[in-house]
Amino acid sequence: KIRVGVLALQGAFSEHIILLNTLPQVSEAVAVRNAQEIAQVDALVIPGGESTTMALIAERSGFWPALQEFVQTRPTWGTCAGMILLSEAVTSGGTLKGDQKLLGGLGISIKRNAFGTQKESFEAGLHVEGLDNAERLFPGVFIRAPVIDEILKPEDVQVVAKLERDYGKTPKGTIVAVRRGHLLGSAFHPELTRDNRMHLFFVKMAQDWIASQSK
Ligand code: GLN
Repeated sequence: KIRVGVLALQGAFSEHIILLNTLPQVSEAVAVRNAQEIAQVDALVIPGGESTTMALIAERSGFWPALQEFVQTRPTWGTCAGMILLSEAVTSGGTLKGDQKLLGGLGISIKRNAFGTQKESFEAGLHVEGLDNAERLFPGVFIRAPVIDEILKPEDVQVVAKLERDYGKTPKGTIVAVRRGHLLGSAFHPELTRDNRMHLFFVKMAQDWIASQSK
């Protein structure tokens, strides 16, 4: 069993904690707000919310270096704003404030607010690679969501989900979830559904990663 932390600086963290706690593979899912707390978890979820605000709070509280160190080697899943923070670059839709940095690691560049800046939320049925009952579409909840603009490290980035049809100006085939080694990113919010398959997928991925590191 693993202990999973959810970054709780801002955004939809309590929903992730609730879903993670439904999984038998998780001993405990807890909120993570500082270097002491992150040192006590095996894997981390960075939730959706506002990437600029999350980065700002982490920087101001002095937590950024410990957070950055964690995501370099430990299993981490970024959803929506969390995926933006795990990307290498933001190509459009507004950069983070001033000289704010991204955590990086996913080997992708991001378009922020790709579906518009208003309350343009929608649900898209997605085929997600590697889920249990993969033939059953996953309800992808998109809220001012980013999309993956470009894969910068094609040699080791795996596409996990794409849009199945056009949504406004965003075409069918646009990549909305990727994996690179110990990192997972999704543009949508699986914590806002009752479907825990993405959480299970991440937890199993984290367990496999941890097992492979201790060999
Ligand atoms: N638009 C937000 C950002 O750029 C992300 C939205 C979300 O996480 N639901 O950070």
